[in-house]
Amino acid sequence: MKITLANPRGFCAGVDRAIEVVERALELHGTPLYVRHEVVHNRLVVNRLRAAGVVFIEELDEVPAGSTLVFSAHGVSRAVREAADERGLRVFDATCPLVTKVHNQVRQYRARGMECILIGHAGHPEVVGTMGQVNDGVYLVETLADVGHLKVTDPERLAYVTQTTLSVDDTARIIDALKKRFPGIRGARTEDICYATQNRQDAVKRLARISDVILVVGSPNSSNSNRLRELAEQCGCPAYLVDRPEDIEPGWFEGCERVGITAGASAPEELVRRIVQHLTPDAEPEELPGAPERMVFVLPPALRTG
Ligand code: SF4
Repeated sequence: MKITLANPRGFCAGVDRAIEVVERALELHGTPLYVRHEVVHNRLVVNRLRAAGVVFIEELDEVPAGSTLVFSAHGVSRAVREAADERGLRVFDATCPLVTKVHNQVRQYRARGMECILIGHAGHPEVVGTMGQVNDGVYLVETLADVGHLKVTDPERLAYVTQTTLSVDDTARIIDALKKRFPGIRGARTEDICYATQNRQDAVKRLARISDVILVVGSPNSSNSNRLRELAEQCGCPAYLVDRPEDIEPGWFEGCERVGITAGASAPEELVRRIVQHLTPDAEPEELPGAPERMVFVLPPALRTG
């Protein structure tokens, strides 16, 4: 069995930064350090940080007044920021700058009196945070069918933004439908799906062309990992999401010569290596060429060294 690895795969600049924010906050302020929501959606990362003294919480009333709190990479609503201020918490923000960009767009559109369509998945923390940047006037669209049911105040004063980790192709179809229904709608020249999501989806399409089966390394609650698995299947290649080697079932590989492996933006390379080792302990995997990524996001000023 031959193993081929997609490129790029795994950690993106936003995930690197979010983990570093937590690690630096631990170094500087010690434990307990509170993190609102899983800092990134990966079980291994979260369990390691938990073992180092991080307490993951969902509601701010779980955080004692005066404690140190980190917001996860997915971002938070304005109400959560205000609640943290009211409780006198020392806050470090690990929100990915590309999510913050979408927050700013929503606030600017509303400040100009425009309503806003957010394309995304209901309940995902990024969507909750983005909708919570303003009090009203943001409508969530999850599917093409939702576009037909939208009721807006003024179709001429309308804009759209998107969650950063969606399927590029599905989102393009929804944007086309929005433009057909509301020809005056405004939006970014390219949708807000981030460079890392785009690059990993392009890479899995290339991988699907040469693989009999694809493993996507990622946790079940990782949006971009789930999109990679779906996309591989849409390209005609059976695909499975695996969080650790123990998830792998031998029956997936019957008659397979080439197994492709990729990883979502929140999955560490260490997990990819463990899974390769589990499948073929003695063989070196082949690396598919792909777009180099040089994006780096700086830490918040209070956490920078030197
Ligand atoms: Fe930021 Fe994209 Fe990574 Fe999410 S997947 S943390 S938006 S770079």
